[in-house]
Amino acid sequence: MEGLNDVEGTYEADMKLTPLQAVEIMEGSKTLDGTGRSKRKVVSNTIYKWPKGIVMFEFSNINELPENIKRTVLSAMEYWASVTCLQFRKRTAELEKEVGHSDYIVFSKGPGCSSQIGRVGGPQEITISEICNKKVTVAHEIGHSIGFYHEQSRPDRDYYVEIRRTNIQPGYEGDFKKYEAGIDIGLQEPYDIGSAMHYGPTWFSKDDKSYTIEPKDKGFLGVMGQREELTFMDMKTANDFYECNASCPNNLECKNGGYVGPNCVCVCPSGLTGITCDDVKRGTPVCGGILSGASGTFMTPNFPGNYPDNADCFWLVQATQASEITVTFDNFEMEEDETCYYDWLEIRRHSMLLAGPKYCGEGPSGPIVFIGQSLMFHFHTDDGYGFKGFRASYTIRPK
Ligand SMILES: [Zn+2]
Repeated sequence: MEGLNDVEGTYEADMKLTPLQAVEIMEGSKTLDGTGRSKRKVVSNTIYKWPKGIVMFEFSNINELPENIKRTVLSAMEYWASVTCLQFRKRTAELEKEVGHSDYIVFSKGPGCSSQIGRVGGPQEITISEICNKKVTVAHEIGHSIGFYHEQSRPDRDYYVEIRRTNIQPGYEGDFKKYEAGIDIGLQEPYDIGSAMHYGPTWFSKDDKSYTIEPKDKGFLGVMGQREELTFMDMKTANDFYECNASCPNNLECKNGGYVGPNCVCVCPSGLTGITCDDVKRGTPVCGGILSGASGTFMTPNFPGNYPDNADCFWLVQATQASEITVTFDNFEMEEDETCYYDWLEIRRHSMLLAGPKYCGEGPSGPIVFIGQSLMFHFHTDDGYGFKGFRASYTIRPK
């Protein structure tokens, strides 16, 4: 987990701000123009970007990272490069000429993990320590350096999470500040509680178990603070910010919220596939599919026998127009766990593009009612402890 050790001079535990950025956060992104009047400035669109999407870097010779962490750093850079148009290249004199500046990231060994936000000018450090030696945790730090703030600092965060101040370890209250509009990238996108840029529910807790950021919907307990992957919205936000599809022909229309990615093909929300994201991934074992009738049923593999290990099934309930989609579970029996860590059913009941709450044990307490055109279900099991699973029925009522 990043941020366990604070680093002197950091604003949030793993985030360092330049004096200008600190002023912007304090003043709600108002900066003074030449006349002394205050004007609003979306700095994120100007000085923070890496020109041409080229991020120059080197490894520190002074606080040298051990080889195993260097490998993690390289894999985290490869990860970002594989899902965006960003390029991470070793700093050379020729490259400085090509990009027209000499700003670069220095990866060094730190007492904790930290990064500055965006490109700040000259060398800027990303520190990594053994406790954050994990690909997506390092990708989180790199995320800061390409322009991301923490997701839970967004001005709209109080609709989704509650900050429990009395549970925060003394001295870390600053990690839970909320920023005003205008300084973050991706604010035009919906709040992504599952983002790799979001903290987990007990981070910086005084006793390591009381909630510091409590999700309003408990189904998100196992989603918040995940460092397994960059989410669809993490990737989309970076792609938008660096205009990764700017030179693609604009004749490809991605469906279901997909976007045109850096290779000029549609990048689909999780569980969807096809050239235009209009199909559902066939699961393991073969399961799932598109449900477009006015009503119907779907169930876990082998139901009412026990579901298999290592299963992944996606069901997309799809209406032809905005509708009220009601889903009722006639039976629900899955491995119980507070955060639904092992076997779960994810219902993307807010948006198809975002992680949804996870259900396990006895499942949702009543019918799920969704207003919209399409509702996605993702059933997942790990190895061991199979249960009966569920059978669900749905109805679509056009609005
Ligand atoms: Zn961070």
